[in-house]
Amino acid sequence: MNCPYCGKEMEKGVIQSPHEISWKKKKSFIGRAMFHEGSVVLSELSFMSGSAAIAYLCRDCKKIVIDYSENTEA
Ligand SMILES: [Zn+2]
Repeated sequence: MNCPYCGKEMEKGVIQSPHEISWKKKKSFIGRAMFHEGSVVLSELSFMSGSAAIAYLCRDCKKIVIDYSENTEA
């Protein structure tokens, strides 16, 4: 993937967590996305391997891009 800001090739990697990884409208004590309307789950909780979402890094622009149509294998 090319950086949408500078156009250079981005570095592929993962964002990893022992918990579900999701986008929500705001931070909440109850973090699970299923309790928040409009949320997007980036990686379901996996007890075996943890959660991981594929993410692309641009070190020059200090941006990270996550395409959540991609699968969560990682
Ligand atoms: Zn960039």
